[in-house]
Amino acid sequence: MKTALGAHVLPTYARADVTFVKGEGVWLFDDTGKRYLDFLAGIAVVGLGHCHPGVAAAAHEQLDRLWHVSNLFWTRPMAELADRLSARFGGAQAFFCNSGAEAIEAGLKYARKATGKTGVIALEGSFHGRTFGALSVTGQPAKRAAFEPLVPDVRFARLNDAESLAAAAADGNVACVLLEPIQGEGGVHPATPAFLRAAADLAAANEALLFLDEVQCGLGRTGSFFAHERLGVRPHAVALAKGLANGLPIGALLVAEEAAGAFAPGDHASTFGGNPVTCAAACAVCDALDDALLANVEALGERLAAGLASLPGVCEVRGSGLLVGCELDRPAGPVVASCLDARLVVGSAGERVLRLTPPLVVSAEEVDRALEILDEVLA
Ligand code: PLP
Repeated sequence: MKTALGAHVLPTYARADVTFVKGEGVWLFDDTGKRYLDFLAGIAVVGLGHCHPGVAAAAHEQLDRLWHVSNLFWTRPMAELADRLSARFGGAQAFFCNSGAEAIEAGLKYARKATGKTGVIALEGSFHGRTFGALSVTGQPAKRAAFEPLVPDVRFARLNDAESLAAAAADGNVACVLLEPIQGEGGVHPATPAFLRAAADLAAANEALLFLDEVQCGLGRTGSFFAHERLGVRPHAVALAKGLANGLPIGALLVAEEAAGAFAPGDHASTFGGNPVTCAAACAVCDALDDALLANVEALGERLAAGLASLPGVCEVRGSGLLVGCELDRPAGPVVASCLDARLVVGSAGERVLRLTPPLVVSAEEVDRALEILDEVLA
């Protein structure tokens, strides 16, 4: 019986009463055979669509060859993934882990070691993960309150307010300035190019690292491989995760070659980090993120945003590419639930914000179908 499913799972999520058993491209299928249009993609993870044949083939081939040897040895997929990410970044070294929070942890440790300082400037409304370090730099009091005391020396500035950034650096103890080019969980709020420039300048003036969290907005989601490419800054460090292996667990810290050299053997580690199967899948993802796909993200993102803007109850549409937030005149939770009933999977990001993060391979027809369903739900 369905209600028994999950009885032994700790209740950290308010899960919808749907059990998915299969995915294909932009479509999901539940255990009763119903088909859903997936405009969440596992929260901006399954960028190439469910069971993408190229990624599946790369993972299968590696599964038949070698699963794990530990980081005491080299494996080709891990080194080749680092090569690919470095080439896209324009010169970087990678540390691989298993999630976004771990990529943030790695970056926070790296910043301390590189600068000899402890302070972090992060932003109000940010989200960087649930582990102690990542939670400490997450600017959402409700998520932090039950778990304090957290890691010290973190100050929160306001998004797109350069003065508050400068005030947060007043004591000079700044190891890094950490921000999401687009705040995802915080409600889909983009940083302006001027604010990112100010953050880069402030980091430079304090001999600190500019550390960008592209866990959600990176890897093609905004229409460029890295979100920061569109914003005119070159960070010292970038955290990646979600879309990197199209749904297999992976995280990565990239350190720009000009900021490299702080970590030595023994400074940081992860048993599963750089797993060959996951890295083989991630190499296939990087190869698939070509100019044609990025152009699709841009075009379909514009189509989606334009369509959303004309729907009833929509006050504002924010974001970039296929990371779209839709501020509503009503709570988003019931709208998400009604969409699910109507076989459209969407998410929320805060009280009144619908979050749409479809696979990057979504078609114009699928965008139009999603808009039709949303129109009916919101009417
Ligand atoms: N950073 C950002 C911007 C995120 O959106 C998330 C997750 O939503 C994280 C970090 C944490 O990633 P994970 O859940 O893989 O630990």
